[in-house]
Amino acid sequence: MSLLPDLIASPPVSSRKAIAKSSLQHMVAQPNPALTLRSDSERQIRSTVDWSETAVYGEHIWFETNVSGDFCYVGEQNCMAKLLQKPLSRRKCAACKIVVHTPCIEQLEKINFRCKPSFRESGSRNVREPIVVRHHWVHRRRQEGKCRQCGKGFQQKFAFHSKEIVAISCSWCKQAYHSKVSCFMLQHIEEPCSLGAHAAVVVPPTWILRVRRPQNPLKSSKKKKRTSFKRKSSKKGAEEGRWKPFVIKPMPAPLMKPLLVFVNPKSGGNQGAKIIQSFMWYLNPRQVFDLSQGGPKEALELYRKVHNLRILACGGDGTVGWILSILDQLRLNPPPPVAILPLGTGNDLARTLNWGGGYTDEPLSKILSHVEDGNIVQLDRWNLHVEPNPDANPEEKDEAAADKLPLDVFNNYFSLGFDARVTLEFHESREANPEKFNSRFRNKMFYAGTAFSDFLTGSSKDLAKHVKLVCDGTDLTSKIQDLKPQCLVFLNIPRYCAGTMPWGNPGEHHDFEPQRHDDGCIEVIGFTMTSLAALQVGGHGERLCQCRQVVLTTSKAIPMQVDGEPCKLAASCIHIFLRNQANMVQKTKRRNSMPLLNDQQPVPERLRIRVSRISMRDYEALHYDKEKLKEASVPLGIIVVPGDSDLELCRTQIERLQEEGDGAKPKTLSSQKLSAKWCFLDSTTADRFYRIDRAQEHLNYVTEISQDELYVLDPELVITQTVGTSPAMPDLVDLSAAPTEDHFAFPPSSSSPPSSPLDFSDPNPSSFFADDLIEAAKSGNFSKFQELHRAGRDLMVRDSSGQTVLHHAVKSGSKDIVKYIIDNAPSEILDATEEENGETCLHQAAALRQRTICHYIVEAGASLMKTDLQGDTPKHRAEKANDPDLAAYLENRQHYQMIQREDQETAV
Ligand SMILES: [Zn+2]
Ligand SMILES: [Zn+2]
Ligand SMILES: [Zn+2]
Ligand SMILES: [Zn+2]
Repeated sequence: MSLLPDLIASPPVSSRKAIAKSSLQHMVAQPNPALTLRSDSERQIRSTVDWSETAVYGEHIWFETNVSGDFCYVGEQNCMAKLLQKPLSRRKCAACKIVVHTPCIEQLEKINFRCKPSFRESGSRNVREPIVVRHHWVHRRRQEGKCRQCGKGFQQKFAFHSKEIVAISCSWCKQAYHSKVSCFMLQHIEEPCSLGAHAAVVVPPTWILRVRRPQNPLKSSKKKKRTSFKRKSSKKGAEEGRWKPFVIKPMPAPLMKPLLVFVNPKSGGNQGAKIIQSFMWYLNPRQVFDLSQGGPKEALELYRKVHNLRILACGGDGTVGWILSILDQLRLNPPPPVAILPLGTGNDLARTLNWGGGYTDEPLSKILSHVEDGNIVQLDRWNLHVEPNPDANPEEKDEAAADKLPLDVFNNYFSLGFDARVTLEFHESREANPEKFNSRFRNKMFYAGTAFSDFLTGSSKDLAKHVKLVCDGTDLTSKIQDLKPQCLVFLNIPRYCAGTMPWGNPGEHHDFEPQRHDDGCIEVIGFTMTSLAALQVGGHGERLCQCRQVVLTTSKAIPMQVDGEPCKLAASCIHIFLRNQANMVQKTKRRNSMPLLNDQQPVPERLRIRVSRISMRDYEALHYDKEKLKEASVPLGIIVVPGDSDLELCRTQIERLQEEGDGAKPKTLSSQKLSAKWCFLDSTTADRFYRIDRAQEHLNYVTEISQDELYVLDPELVITQTVGTSPAMPDLVDLSAAPTEDHFAFPPSSSSPPSSPLDFSDPNPSSFFADDLIEAAKSGNFSKFQELHRAGRDLMVRDSSGQTVLHHAVKSGSKDIVKYIIDNAPSEILDATEEENGETCLHQAAALRQRTICHYIVEAGASLMKTDLQGDTPKHRAEKANDPDLAAYLENRQHYQMIQREDQETAV
C-alpha cells in the first residue's frame, strides 16, 4: 500500500499541494485557462456565487469571520500577516470553511488551493469518461466526530490556537481522517466522493455546465460582420437573451430529490444571512440562492428540467407565497413541492405544515433530512377577483381608496375590518422602517388592536352595515348583521396571527367540519371584540360557514388585508374561488432507520430514563461542549415510558414527576419547580445540543434524542434561588451573559463606541455628570443628539440617578429621539431602571400618558411586567394617570407578551 510520504511533515506543504491538485485535476473537464488566469488585480473578493460567463473555476465564497486564532490557510511561507508582522482581518469560505487573511486570498493561487468545484466546463469531456465527483480534501485544525479509518476522535480539546493540522476532511461528503499516513491514505485522493449524508438532495457539480457563448451560426466567414457595431441588431439581442452561461444537465437518478434553497437574508433579524453560508457548506453553493440578489424565477427556470426537484423556502410566509406565485407563472409540471424553514416569527403556513413558527437552533443537516423525508401534501390557493361595486353610493366614495387588492391570490387568509385597519394605520412606520414591519409586528398590532385601534381612530363597529356576503349561493348578510363583527376573515389554513386557531375544533358542535388546507373549502369567520379576546387565550372566532365560493360586496371603502398586505379597497364586488393546489412538503416523524453511526438496536419495550435539566445560562455558554453541558445539568428524576414514546408522552410523565415531587417525599433533587417554558434538548443526534420546538414534540421519538439520559432546557432555572421576582424572564437573566434572542451569536449590536456591557450596570462616574448627550435628550434636540451619537457618544450613558438617555427623551416627549435610541442602542436600555423610583422608561411614558412613545417602546420589546419600587407595572401607572385607554392597551400587550413567552417560537 503506497502512502503519501509528505503527510507527516508539518506543515505538510506538499501534501497540501497534492490535495489542492486532486480537487482540480480529477474534475472531468479542465477549467478554461483564459478564465482562471484573470489577473488578480481585477478579481474582487466575492461573497456570492458568480453565475456570469467569467465565473472563476473553484472560486471560494468569502465571508468575514471573527474566528479566534491567527491561523491562515496559506501557511507560514506565504502568509502576509507573518510578513507584515501585524494582525489582519480574516475571511472564511462558506463552501469549504478555510480561513485566510484578507490579503492572503491571492496567495491561495500559489499553493493552488481552490474551492470545491461547483460546476464543470462543457465540451472538453471525453464521452466515454465516467462523470464522477472527487473528494475535496481540506486540512483542518479542528474536527468534530471520529476518524473514518481508525475510529478515534481528533483530540483537539485544548488546541483552539494550535497550528497543528489534526484532520483532513472532504468539504463535499464531510468524511474525516487523521492527518497521518496510517489514517489518510493515498487512494483517498483518487477515490470518487459520495457527496455524503445529504447526497440525495445535493446537486452534483457534474450536472452544472458552463457553456461557451455560441459562435454565430455562419461561423467565422461572417463573424466580422456580425460583431461589427452596425449589425448590433435586435435579432442579435434576442439571441443574446436566450444564451445563458450555465445550463443544468441532470443525469438519471430516480432516488434523488435535488433541492433548491431560497433564502430571504433579511428575515428573522438577519438569521437568513447566516443560513445561506451554512447551506453552501452542506450543499453545492449553486443550489443556494440569496433572494436579495434576485428573484426565484431565474433559478427555477435554470433547474426546470430536473426531476424530483424540491424547494426549500427560508423566510416568512410572504417568501413562500412569492415562490408559489413564480411556480404558477412558470407552469412547471408537476410543480416542485415546497418545504419551509421559517425565519422570524408568525409563519402560520409553516406551522400548518409542521415546520414550526420560527427557527431556533436545530442543525441545518437535520432540517435537510426532514426536507428529504417530508410528505408531499396539497395546499389550496385562492383567487381574489375584484370589480367595482356599480351600486355603491357615489357620496360614500373615498378618493384615497384603491380599486384593487395588493395581491390577487392568497394562501393563508383574506380579511377585512379592524385587523387590516391596524396594519394600515402603521403603514407609516413600515415606510420608515421596512425591516421592523414584519409579520411579527403585524401580529402584535393585531392583538394590540383590540385596545389600541379604537382609541386611535374610533370604532369599526359599522362593518356589518357595509358588507353583503354570499357563500356558495347562500346569503349570510343577515347573519353578519346580527353578529356585528369587527372583522371578517376568510381562512385557508388552521393558523392565524402567529399560531392562534380561529376555527377551533368544531367537533363538539357537529355543525362544521374540521379545517383542512387541502379540501377545496374556505372557512369564513367573524370576530367580535369578545371573540378576539378569547382568541388570545385559546378560544375561537364565530364560525360562519365553510364554502367553495364567496361573493362579498362592500358599499364603502374598507381596510382589507391579503396574507398580511393591507390596503383600503373602494366599494367593490369581490369573488373568492379556488385557484389551484400547490405541492408542499410537510414535515413528518423522522425515519425509523437511524443515522448510520448509531447501532441498530431494537427499541426496548420500556425505557427507564433519567431526566436532567439545564439552565439557559449554561446552555448558552456551553452549547457546543456536550460533555461540559452534561456536567452542568441538574438531575430532576427518572421516568419510565414505553420504548416507542414520542416526546409529548414524555412531557406528561416529566410533569407528573413534578407533581409527585410536591408530596412529602420529594422526588426531585432541586427545590425549584420546572417552569412552564421548558423544552426538550436533542443530546445525541448532532455534534451539539439543540432545542426541540414544543409544537413538534409529537414528531420526535424519545429514543431519537436521548440514550439513557434525557435533557431538558429550563429557561427560568436559576442555580442560586431568587425569591419573589416577577415571572418575567429578563429580570433573571444576568446581563453579562450572552444575548438570549440571538441564537447565532452575531456580534451584538452596540452603541457606537465599543462599550463593555458593564458600563451599563456600573455607570462610569466620569461620563455621567453634565453629559451633553443627556442634555440633548432632555431638551429634545434631535439633530444635536444624532450628531453627538455619530461623533461617538455612548448611548448607554446614565446620569447620577441612573437615568438613561431614553428616560430623558421620554420625559421631554421627543418621539424622534426615542425612536432613534430604540433603533441604535442595545436593547438592554429598554428595561433599564433608574435608582430613585425603580422606573423603566415605559413607567415614565405611561405616567406621562405618551401613547405613541409607549407604543414605540412596547413594540421594541420592553417588558410590561416590570414593577417599580412601588410595585406598579406600566399599566398601573397609566391607570393612576387617568388614561384608561392606554392602560387597556398596556394590559392587552402584557397579556400578549405572556402568551408569546409560552409560545416556543423564540421564547426559550
Ligand atoms: Zn495569512
Ligand atoms: Zn472554499
Ligand atoms: Zn468527499
Ligand atoms: Zn485515524
